[in-house]
Amino acid sequence: MYIVMLGAPGSGKGTTAKILAKKTNLPHISTGDIFREQIKNQTELGKLADSYISKGELVPDEVTINMVKVRLSEPDTKEGAILDGFPRTKAQAEALDKIMQEQGKQIDIVPELIVPDQIIIDRILNRATCSNKECGAIYNTKYKPPKVEGICDVCGSKLVTRTDDNEEAIKNRLEVYRANVQSLLDYYKEKKVLLSITPKDPTSESSSEQVADEICHFKEVC
Ligand code: AMP
Repeated sequence: MYIVMLGAPGSGKGTTAKILAKKTNLPHISTGDIFREQIKNQTELGKLADSYISKGELVPDEVTINMVKVRLSEPDTKEGAILDGFPRTKAQAEALDKIMQEQGKQIDIVPELIVPDQIIIDRILNRATCSNKECGAIYNTKYKPPKVEGICDVCGSKLVTRTDDNEEAIKNRLEVYRANVQSLLDYYKEKKVLLSITPKDPTSESSSEQVADEICHFKEVC
């Protein structure tokens, strides 16, 4: 089962993807997470990616597609994967189809999360993420605060704020998202795999759980 999560930055697609990965026992592949890990390790790819990410711009297609191609050739993706943050452009969507075809796979479902802008901005500005890569729990200091300020409830690691979660970069990320999303929606609508979801109460703590359940039930994914 291959699931491609679509949604603006801050729409909750990362949290939903993590829940789905647990429910299905499939790997969660977040291109943003992979880039952040490369930046942390100061690799050449990390340095290149950082020059785009810090401004809220997209890393060039060629670089990103190659990275995903390598990741999708790893054995843990044989039965499926939850893709989060990829594809972000039509060229990436076409490249993904080619990669999948070469491996005899296909995308089963593309959930699109629809969340109002004001909630998105508020969410991103209040977002805190667990610094422990294995955990990666996401908090909202306003709507879903950790029990102890700055500390992850799940694993006790420090919580960090992403460098691109500042107002200037957010504005740019939302613009970039809007500029590309329609072509992706059209692309997947035509393939009859698009599932548009408007979370009932996107600020509630259980919202991502509810969204994940909706996705699970749709194709009896989990
Ligand atoms: P995310 O964690 O998904 O919000 O991604 C953080 C940043 O990583 C984005 O704002 C982009 O700069 C970069 N990025 C992540 N995924 C992609 C992608 N598929 N194509 C290009 N850039 C990406």
